[in-house]
Amino acid sequence: MKQTRRTFLASSAAALTGCHLLSPSGKGNWIDAHVHVWTPDVEKYPLTRGYAVSDMQPPSFTPEQLFAHCKPEGVNRIVLIQMSYYQTDNRYMLDMMRAHPGVFSGVAIVDEHASGLAETMRSLVQQGVRGFRIHSGKERNLSDWLGSPGMATLWKTAAELKVSVCPLINPDTLPLLDKMCEWYPDTSVVVDHFARLSMAGPAKPEEVRNLLRLARHAKTHVKASAFYALGAKKAPYTDMGPLVRQVRDAFGPQRVMWASDCPFQVEHGHTYHNAIAIIRDRLDFLSEQDKAWMLRDTAEKVFFSAAAV
Ligand SMILES: [Zn+2]
Repeated sequence: MKQTRRTFLASSAAALTGCHLLSPSGKGNWIDAHVHVWTPDVEKYPLTRGYAVSDMQPPSFTPEQLFAHCKPEGVNRIVLIQMSYYQTDNRYMLDMMRAHPGVFSGVAIVDEHASGLAETMRSLVQQGVRGFRIHSGKERNLSDWLGSPGMATLWKTAAELKVSVCPLINPDTLPLLDKMCEWYPDTSVVVDHFARLSMAGPAKPEEVRNLLRLARHAKTHVKASAFYALGAKKAPYTDMGPLVRQVRDAFGPQRVMWASDCPFQVEHGHTYHNAIAIIRDRLDFLSEQDKAWMLRDTAEKVFFSAAAV
């Protein structure tokens, strides 16, 4: 039984790779730059303290469940983002990356206060990780970012390893992130979900300016993602068009990458099709070249290229 499953997984990975080789620059072969996976198997992969099984919504989102949504839309590579349920235990993500060679890149979570941080990061990068997630949740004192020796190590080590720091932030953290980018100009940065502009009501002009201002740092990138949670929060999401355009103009398509934020994008009546369709099919101001960058090439460059290990 196990063998059958492994054989199936191996052949589906081979099929994906083959497909990519046939038309490397053609349409499709898109990359989704932000997906979370988890398993109901909490025996093997226990949840971190503070999380209960009932917090896992949906209860399961495995690679196979993801493929059912993304493959029909021409998405065959995915950047996995370590899920908060597991915090710094990156094993499930790493195991899924190993089980599907060539399909996944990964963004891990590390404890920046733990000893041996640089070595931990190096080891994760050797296992295929290409980014490290940081966030500005309520529990974090934001001034820690600037004063923390751990954060300094994290940003410097990411630059040395040629991987990215990936902040999940709200708009009010943008000025602080701008400072971090100034301090660490060699570190590649990928901001999640337009820095959640317009998640809690319309974006203020100042917030938009602060996001666009990050473009002055050559190594900053923005994820055009989580459309289910932004603006009108309603398909076809074209109310987000003006922000997509501003971000494309400020950063250039080479520094913008599309992502779904599954499984949340496929809950409560939202669909994977509508998530990719806003960029692929619905915004007239995006050229074919813009789309190639935003739907594949930017994420490929940032998350699927060699690291310095
Ligand atoms: Zn997410």
